[in-house]
Amino acid sequence: MKKRILITGAAGFIGSNLIGSLLRDGRYYVIGLDNFDAFYPRADKEENILCFAGNDNFRFYEGDIRNMSDLDALGDIDVIVHLAAKAGVRPSIKDPVICQEVNVGGTQNLLEFAKKRNISQFVFASSSSVYGINQNVPWSEEDKLLPISPYASTKLSCEMLGHVYSHLYGIRFLALRFFTVYGPGQRPDLAIHKFFKSIINGQPIPVFGDGSTSRDYTYVDDIVSGIEAAISYEASIFEIINLGNHQTVMLSELIDAIEESCGKKAVIDRLPEQPGDVPQTFADIQKAKKLLNYHPSTDLKTGLESFYSWYLKTRDVQN
Ligand code: NAD
Repeated sequence: MKKRILITGAAGFIGSNLIGSLLRDGRYYVIGLDNFDAFYPRADKEENILCFAGNDNFRFYEGDIRNMSDLDALGDIDVIVHLAAKAGVRPSIKDPVICQEVNVGGTQNLLEFAKKRNISQFVFASSSSVYGINQNVPWSEEDKLLPISPYASTKLSCEMLGHVYSHLYGIRFLALRFFTVYGPGQRPDLAIHKFFKSIINGQPIPVFGDGSTSRDYTYVDDIVSGIEAAISYEASIFEIINLGNHQTVMLSELIDAIEESCGKKAVIDRLPEQPGDVPQTFADIQKAKKLLNYHPSTDLKTGLESFYSWYLKTRDVQN
């Protein structure tokens, strides 16, 4: 019997990469749910999942995680991988209420659904942003958490909700804290995608601050391998695990690497640092190595080249 995996946010960046990998694996039946949230174009998301249409091991439902009736329409499920969210720090500062409704309300609704259906495994997409401004690098799951954006605080709330449901109802809850994910299909609001697009089109790239901020960029296939390990993890009932690359790259270095990938110089539009953005992210991945046998293997140069070739193939839908 194939394991039946519900992926929320299935038409998004990470969701669609995960579907591809699970279907290639062959041991899974995948149920995708997405409401095509208007944060970025529906056409991009439809393109992300177009290649799975007609696959007998995949079924897609258009629906909203906040509506129990949309969840009730789904077939049998063994594991929930919950990726749907109002993503991004800046939009959450503009509209914190909707961010809370979707991220926290939607997660609670899914946990209620898991309880009702006796679904015993729940993998949740958390975020490195829960650490806030943490000088204590690399960031360990044991560190103190002080989020500095509404988005980050919703992710932390969801981790705590997961703990409640694992404690009360025995639902295994694994919160995976993703560190800046990039690769084919990356969201158009994220730096790497925005920078490639602008540089290729000869437009200035917005650079917030002096370029010294740094991020632990993690290639999407590495994140997908961590999610897949979490789908099968059974050693404990509740865990919070960093999924990063354990390498930090300064914004100025990232721009140099993108210029090299596409063979064009960037025109820089320097802007003030953004409220809610943290100066650095840096994952300690010892726990992921131990519990999930997680070993990220894609370096930045290879990952950027892979993003670039995807971008060139699909850019007709990017504009
Ligand atoms: P994405 O925006 O590409 O995917 C999220 C998907 O969720 C979208 O397709 C959207 O339409 C869907 N969605 C939004 N609201 C919904 C709702 N109410 N009901 C059903 N579907 C809904 O984002 P992504 O980059 O693939 O991120 C996936 C998850 O990983 C998110 O939870 C995000 O917060 C988290 N995360 C991402 C990163 C990153 O760098 N991309 C880093 C940390 C955490």
